[in-house]
Amino acid sequence: MTIHDLVEWGISYSPWPLTFGLACCAVEMMHGYTARYDLDRYGIVPRPTPRQAEIIIVSGTVTNKMAPILRNIYQQMVNPKWVISMGSCANGGGYYHFSYATLRGCERAIPVDFWIPGCPPSAEAMVFCLHTLQKKIRWHEIQKYSVR
Ligand code: SF4
Repeated sequence: MTIHDLVEWGISYSPWPLTFGLACCAVEMMHGYTARYDLDRYGIVPRPTPRQAEIIIVSGTVTNKMAPILRNIYQQMVNPKWVISMGSCANGGGYYHFSYATLRGCERAIPVDFWIPGCPPSAEAMVFCLHTLQKKIRWHEIQKYSVR
């Protein structure tokens, strides 16, 4: 194992998500951190501040008033950063798609890497998404360090 392998392994097994629960989807997100799925054992430890997080899980309805705050939080996160949009509301407005107060998808405020469908999506879907993201982070690190 080279030092680069070690760095790739360390970075891909310590992705820290900022939890951004806005509505009912947040309950399923929290479920992922409880004893049943225990995401901490994969190094996925929720952080309360964007300055310590490289992933943001937007779970719930994003209102127009919340959009600039979401963008502000995203800008404070460390690089490289990844965005997971969790649930129909975060993906496209969901039930509130035609409301004057709802942002029709959080990608209108920040760039999104993964969309998890469902209302709400299951905690298993979020765990699967985070594992897929770990693979993507590892690939990203390999590309960064590969010499061509
Ligand atoms: S997608 Fe469904 S469960 Fe999730 S925040 Fe919207 S209404 Fe609630």
